[in-house]
Amino acid sequence: MTQSEIRSVCVFCGASLGNNPAFRAAAEQLGTLLAQNGVTVVFGGGKAGLMGTVADSALAAGGEVIGVIPDYLVEREHGHRGVTRLDIVDSMHSRKRRMFDLADGFVSLPGGVGTLEETFEVITWKQLEMHTKPIAVIDVAGYWQPLDRLISATVEHGFAAPPTRDLYTLVATPEEALDALRADAETGPPADSARL
Ligand code: AMP
Repeated sequence: MTQSEIRSVCVFCGASLGNNPAFRAAAEQLGTLLAQNGVTVVFGGGKAGLMGTVADSALAAGGEVIGVIPDYLVEREHGHRGVTRLDIVDSMHSRKRRMFDLADGFVSLPGGVGTLEETFEVITWKQLEMHTKPIAVIDVAGYWQPLDRLISATVEHGFAAPPTRDLYTLVATPEEALDALRADAETGPPADSARL
């Protein structure tokens, strides 16, 4: 794979803004950065919270944005009608599958349990060798430190192999996230299996 093959990135993040302005700032930076690099943003299709911030920032910078939202969440999550394309699907599982298929890599910003679930799913799918797409987690204001500790604990307690820690890259900024995706796409997945 070459750098140019990161053409689309799926962003997982909160449907809320959180209580630290740094979260929104990172979401704005990420959306803008992806658009400026010609990378299509794939996201959950909502207009609220960090999700809406990423989408609006990418659109404002001239980027392409694809939202994927289940029909029963269009009202609740304020389906974003201003995006390049809004795919309305019939279930949460269809949403996650569509988002996965559309993306060359994944970036997680802070978010709630939905974001946790989506992030864990792509990590576990990678562990099971269902894909080799790069995953970057942006540790805004230390938000993801507990994830890193939890993943380390799975290894320390003998529930996961050491390369499990290499299934994703923890970074500090949106710029580092895009760099990490590109570097990972070039080098491919870790040689050792992350399975015990
Ligand atoms: P949250 O991080 O909880 O604010 O949710 C962020 C996004 O994740 C929202 O669009 C939710 O609809 C979505 N979400 C919530 N639960 C799940 C789930 N089980 N699987 C996938 N996405 C989810």
